[in-house]
Parts: sequence; structure tokens; C-alpha cells
Amino acid sequence: MAGVDWDEDDPFEEQREQAESPMRRLIFDYGRPYWFSMTIGLISSVFARALDLLPALLLAVAIDSIFGEQAFHEQVPLSVLPEAWLPTSPEEQFVFVVVVVAGSFVLGAVFHWLRNWGFNSFSQDVQHDVRTATYDKMQRLDMEFFSNKQTGEMMSVLSNDVNQLERFLNEGMNSATRLIVMVFGITFLLFWLNPQLALVSLAPVPLIAIFTYIFVQKIQPKYAAVRSSVGKVNSRLENNLGGINVIKSSNTEEYESDRVNDVSRKYYNTNWDAIWLRIKFFPGLQVISGIGFVLTFLVGGYWVLMDTAPGPFTGTLETGVFVAFIMYTQQLVWPMAQFGQVINMYQRAEASSERIFGLMDERGRIERDEDANEIEIRDGRVEYDNVSFRYDDELHDSDNAVDGSDGDGTPEADLIIDDISFDVDGGETVALVGPTGAGKSTVLKLLLRLYDVNEGAIRIDGQDVRDVSLASLRQSMGYVGQDSFLFYGTVEENITYGTFGADREEIVEAAKAAEAHEFIQNLPEGYDTMVGERGVKLSGGQRQRVAIARAVLKDPDILILDEATSDVDTETEMLIQRSIDDLTEDRTTFAIAHRLSTIKDADQILVLEDGRIVERGTHDKLLQNEGLYSHLWGVQAGEIDELPQEFIERAQRRHARTEISDD
Ligand code: ADP
Repeated sequence: MAGVDWDEDDPFEEQREQAESPMRRLIFDYGRPYWFSMTIGLISSVFARALDLLPALLLAVAIDSIFGEQAFHEQVPLSVLPEAWLPTSPEEQFVFVVVVVAGSFVLGAVFHWLRNWGFNSFSQDVQHDVRTATYDKMQRLDMEFFSNKQTGEMMSVLSNDVNQLERFLNEGMNSATRLIVMVFGITFLLFWLNPQLALVSLAPVPLIAIFTYIFVQKIQPKYAAVRSSVGKVNSRLENNLGGINVIKSSNTEEYESDRVNDVSRKYYNTNWDAIWLRIKFFPGLQVISGIGFVLTFLVGGYWVLMDTAPGPFTGTLETGVFVAFIMYTQQLVWPMAQFGQVINMYQRAEASSERIFGLMDERGRIERDEDANEIEIRDGRVEYDNVSFRYDDELHDSDNAVDGSDGDGTPEADLIIDDISFDVDGGETVALVGPTGAGKSTVLKLLLRLYDVNEGAIRIDGQDVRDVSLASLRQSMGYVGQDSFLFYGTVEENITYGTFGADREEIVEAAKAAEAHEFIQNLPEGYDTMVGERGVKLSGGQRQRVAIARAVLKDPDILILDEATSDVDTETEMLIQRSIDDLTEDRTTFAIAHRLSTIKDADQILVLEDGRIVERGTHDKLLQNEGLYSHLWGVQAGEIDELPQEFIERAQRRHARTEISDD
């Protein structure tokens, strides 16, 4: 359920709606293991606050009986104790009061310490568990989820939202107990001491409650606007820092500064809107509670001064009791002012936990059968059997609306893979070629089961990839992509990533096979050199060779090379090609390549266009065909200058379509 519906541009709206009883799960599922610190926190908080109320009471006693005329044991606060326990001489009574006040301070300090320990350790433990559980769940979500969300948005769930829960569990719970104990405690004490004057002192309380309620209602949409504009500032900054190369080379610093200025100014305005309301609220609250104070002072003071009850009141009012009233009405204001804060913290925590638990409840298109058998690879034979696939996302929904070229907007119109079938025998190499956007990478993503097919099936040695465990499926494959991402860590760590137990000898062996050993040795600290973000920068070709070494070390049954040599010069390409030839020798290999020279020895070449296989065969056979492949080959080998008009027109049509849908 979405308890708070004022946050309209929440990118996690969908997740929030599907989250089931998030606050209950937060407290019961995640809080339960730490019930001990939570209980200590709660109990100590109640005691600590109760002790905070004692000094005013004892001051009243001291004024009225030690310095005044009243009998010590007849004092209302002391009437709960047996008379025999109480001292009789004024000196002893004085010492008694001082000792009790001092004791209450010491004990109060101990309870405050325990309360702090309890709430803090409870909230830190829960925060840690929620964050790791959310991350764990998040990284297992389908690729679909990641391609539809911005990194900043996901980061903000893991950091801001989790912190919000921590704040609520710590400060929120703390303020809530203080509020309850102080308001009920003071109300009780005032009525106990003098019910008539209590009515006067507490008269503004309903007013304070109404005033705070209205404030909370008004400030919520403002906070939501602040949250959304913070998101916009972050997205802008993230985008700009990521594209700093383009900014510098296009000389657009000024333009970007203006854009940052714009979003930052909007943030300033929305934030100021909220601040303005807040700074009006507190003085307003002070005025209302001031009324209570003045009324108490007026009525109580007159009562004490004249020694007769004013107006409808009866009985007497002691000076000490009057002083206690004055002190208590002061002590009441702050917890009441926090009332709005507590509600606000609760609602923010609720929105955060809706995002977090909604994310945890997220169900991907890929159905995971936790009990599925491990894949059993014998020859490594792969079959694509009438496979069709479309990406199911917002991007393509909007494509339908603008895609004028097909006109029909039917689901077939945006099939990315359209009924393709082929077999690869174990140990064979199959190459996928064709224009950008033809669907080559998608064919391989389906094999890795990053997405599930919409129709048809993909089988490895007769086993449908959907029927075996995802972990064993991916363990059996090695992947070298176009963009070889390196983690921040040593070269060695990057090579052993996924094959963690390997020893130095095996690593060096793998690096040699990938033609990477030589350049690694020349790095400042060899295999121990830090690379990746903040580390030594490696060139695209070097990164690719590290990725190939990683694949060599993994020794997978099936190898996927997604333009593995795209980033390197011709000389390095030759070297890498040699190592790849070794690597692919007796394992099933899928290779995507733009440079046809790298795949001309493949056992089978599939030419893709618009998600369909338009030609297939060996290099020699395809050259004889005189189709797209032979012409591409001709251009790349420098035998012909340009593709025939027919192919150029097809490419232009395709590009025009892509541009329309890019808008
Ligand atoms: P290729 O590898 O042949 O260049 P791809 O398989 O990468 O082609 O892309 C095929 C089509 O699928 C393209 O039109 C591309 O825009 C689209 N596409 C690729 N990835 C996604 C994605 N994550 N979500 C939506 N559409 C995608």
C-alpha cells in the first residue's frame, strides 16, 4: 500500500505500490533479532524521562514545607511514601530533598546512557541488515530493472532511504517515547497536584495538537518537492561529471554551469518554501504555549498572592505547587513541538521502507527455480529453436506511439529477435555479424539468460536454459565484452575475479595466453598494481586482454566474445587473435565482430539484419552468395569502395527509424 501519495515523481512508485506492510516487516522481521537492545532503549527512555520530571516536584516540596509552613509528610508528592520513612527535622528534610534530587540526576544519566546505547545499537544493526539485504536482492534483479533506472536513483535507495530508516528507529523512537512520557507524565502530575489549575495550564494543548497537525499536512508536499528536486540536482551533476570529456571538448562549461545553476536554484526555491513554513511554525507554537504559561502564571499567581481561589476555583494553592506548574508548562512545549517531527519522520520512514521492501518484492521476468538442477555439459552443443524476443520496457512502449514506419504498433513490430533458429555443435565457433542494432548482442544475452525468450527455446546439450540453475548456467560460460570493466583492485584480483582460488602460477599462465603478461610486468607493481577507477589507467586494449585472461582462467565450456577485439590496434589484434584461437579451440564459442577478418575462420557465420538471420554459412560460402556479407567483406578488405546502393538505402531506412524512436 502507498501510505503517502504526495510523492508524485518517485521513480520507485511502482515498487512502492507493491510493497506489503513495509513498516511491520521493518520492525518485526529486521528488528526481531535485536529485540534486546530495543527493549533496553525503550525502558531506559521511559525511566530517564520520568526522572526528568522529579526535580520540579521536589522543588515544590522544599518551597512549601522546608522553607514554608506545611507538614513535610502531608505534601502530595510525599504522601505516597510511608510517614515513618520521612525525616522530621527541617535540616534532615533538606538533606533528604538534596540527596533525592542528586540521586535522580545520577540515575537519570545512567538511564540516558542506556537509552542512547539501546536505540543506537538497535538502529545501526537494523540499518546494516537492511542495507546488505537490499543490495543482495538488488544485484540479483533482472537486467531489465537496471536498464530502466538511473544509477543515482538506485544509490539513493541504498544510502538515503536506508539512512532514513536508521533516523526513524533512533531519533524517531526516542522523540516518540519522550513525547508520550512527558505529555502523559506531566498531565498526570498536574492533575494530581491541582486538578483545577491543571485545566488552565493544559487548555492550549488541543490547540497545539491542531496547529501541529495542520503544519504537518502543509509541510509534507513541500518535503516531497524538496526530495524530488534533490534528485534532479544529483542526476544533473552525475550526468555532467560522467560526460566531462564531452563538456570540455565541446567547450560548453558555461552552458553546463547555467544548467546546474537552474536546477540548483529550483532546489533552493523548493527548499526555501519548506524552510519558510517551518520558521513560521515554531514561533506560532511558542505563542500558543506562551498563552498556557501566561494563563497559569496569572491564575496561579493571583491564587497564591490573594490566598483565595479566583473565580470558579476552590481550595488553596501552595507556592511550591505553583512553581512546579510553571516549570512543567515549560517542559511540555518542546516535546509537543516535536510531535510534528515524529509524524514526519514516521511518514518519511514509511516511504523509504516502501521503496526498500518494494524493491525486495520485485519479481523479474526471469523465473528462478531455486531447486533447479545444475546444468550438465557434455559436448557444449547449443540450439536456438524458433527464438523470438522483445525488450519489455518504457522505451519500447513509447516507440510504439511514434514508430510511424511500421504503422501498426503491433507487438511483432518491435520484436528484437524474430524467430531465429540455428545449431552449434560442441566445440564449434559461430560468428554473428550484421549492422548495429541487428540484435547480435541480444542473441547472446539470451544465452546468458540475462533475459528470457518470449517464444521458442534455447537448449544446451538438450537442456532448456530455463530449466537449469542460473548459477550453474552462468558458471559454465565465459564472457568478454566490448567494454571490459575493471574493478578497483589489483590486476591479479581482476584476473581472478570469479575464479577466486587461483594461484599466481595459473594467473600468469592465463595472462600469457591472453598476451597480457608482458604489459602487466611493465606496470609499476606488476600483478599487484591497482587498476580501475582511481587506479592506474589501462588502455582499452589492455583492459580487454585482462578480461580475456579472466576468461582463460575460468576455463568455461562456452565462450562468448562480444567484439572482444574492438578496442585494439591491428598489431595487438593479431596477438589477441592468436590467444583467442587457442582459447576457442575446443569449446563452443560465440563471437560478435565488426572486423570480419577476425571471424573468417569460424565454423559458421550468421548474418543478422533486423533480428532475423538473412544469410548463414562459412566465409567461403558467403563470399560466393554475393549478399550483404560478401559486400561488407569487399569494403573491409578494400576490394570495393562502397556498398551497393541497395544496401546503403536499407541502412539509411534503418537509421531513420532508429532516430525517430530515439526522440
Ligand atoms: P547489436 O548487438 O546487433 O548492435 P543489440 O542486440 O545491442 O544489437 O540491439 C538490438 C536492438 O535492441 C536495438 O534496437 C537496441 O536499441 C535494442 N536494445 C538493446 N538493448 C536494449 C535494452 N536493454 N532495452 C531496450 N532495448 C534494447
